[in-house]
Amino acid sequence: MSFAATVLTLYPEMFPGPLGISLAGRALEAGAWSIDTVQIRDFASDKHRTVDDTPAGGGAGMVLKVDVLAAAIDHARAVNPGAPVLAMTPRGRPLTQARVRELAAGPGAIVLCGRFEGFDERIFEGRDVEEVSVGDIVLSGGEPAAIMLLDACIRLLPGVMGAASSGVEESFENGLLEYPHFTRPVEWEGRTIPEVLRSGDHAKIAAWRKRRGEDDTRLRRPDLWERHGDVRGQSASGARHDDEGTGT
Ligand code: SAH
Repeated sequence: MSFAATVLTLYPEMFPGPLGISLAGRALEAGAWSIDTVQIRDFASDKHRTVDDTPAGGGAGMVLKVDVLAAAIDHARAVNPGAPVLAMTPRGRPLTQARVRELAAGPGAIVLCGRFEGFDERIFEGRDVEEVSVGDIVLSGGEPAAIMLLDACIRLLPGVMGAASSGVEESFENGLLEYPHFTRPVEWEGRTIPEVLRSGDHAKIAAWRKRRGEDDTRLRRPDLWERHGDVRGQSASGARHDDEGTGT
C-alpha cells in the first residue's frame, strides 16, 4: 500500500507543484505515493460558497469557517481512512524529522492548508486535528508548508531514495546536524578540501565527520545540542581536536 496524501486547500492547482518534479515526481509516477486535492470551497453551504468570515472579537482579516472545514475533513477521512489529519499553522508543534519518519511509515496524511488569518480554533479538537508548524515564520498560506511536509515524507518512502544509507546519516537523524560535504576541484579560489577527506583512511574520515557534526551542532544549534545531551556522552572523546583543515 502506498503513501496517500490528501490536501485540503483553496488552491488545488498548487499541487503536486514541485512534488511532481525530480525525486518526488518520479516516485509519484512509480506509484510510491499518490495525491488527491480537496477544494475546501466545495464544502461551503451557501450559494456564494463562502469559506470565511470576520473574526469574533474584531480585528483584521478573515477566518476559515469551522463548519466548512469540518465537512471538508469528513469527506477527506472517508476517502483516505486511517490517515492522520494535520493542519498547517504557525501555532502548531514544530515539525521534526522524527514525526516525518512516523508519518512516512504510516498510510499517508490528510493535510489542511489555511489562508487569511487561519482556522476557527474549534476545528482542532472538534475533528481531532494535529497542528503542525514548519518553522517560526509566517507564510501567506498552508500550501508551501504542506509541500514541505509531504516532500520530507516522500523521500523516506521505500525505494524512493537511491542509496538506502543516505537517509540514515542525514541531519537530525541522530539528533545532530550532518557533517559538511566537499567535492572536486580539490582547490577552489584558494580553499582546499580538508586533507583528511583525501587521505583514504576511512576510520579517520569517519572520526572527522562525527566530530564536525558534533562541533557544528554545538555552535550552530545549541538547542539541538542541549536536547541530545545523550549523544554527547557517546562522542569521540579523546579524538584529536587540532586541525586537519576544516575548510572553514
Ligand atoms: N494569523 C496566523 C497566520 C496565518 S498565515 C497566525 O498569526 O498564527 C495563513 C496560513 O498560512 C495559516 O493558516 C497556515 O495554514 C499557513 N502558515 C503560515 N505560516 C505557517 C507556518 N510557519 N507553518 C505552517 N503553516 C503556516
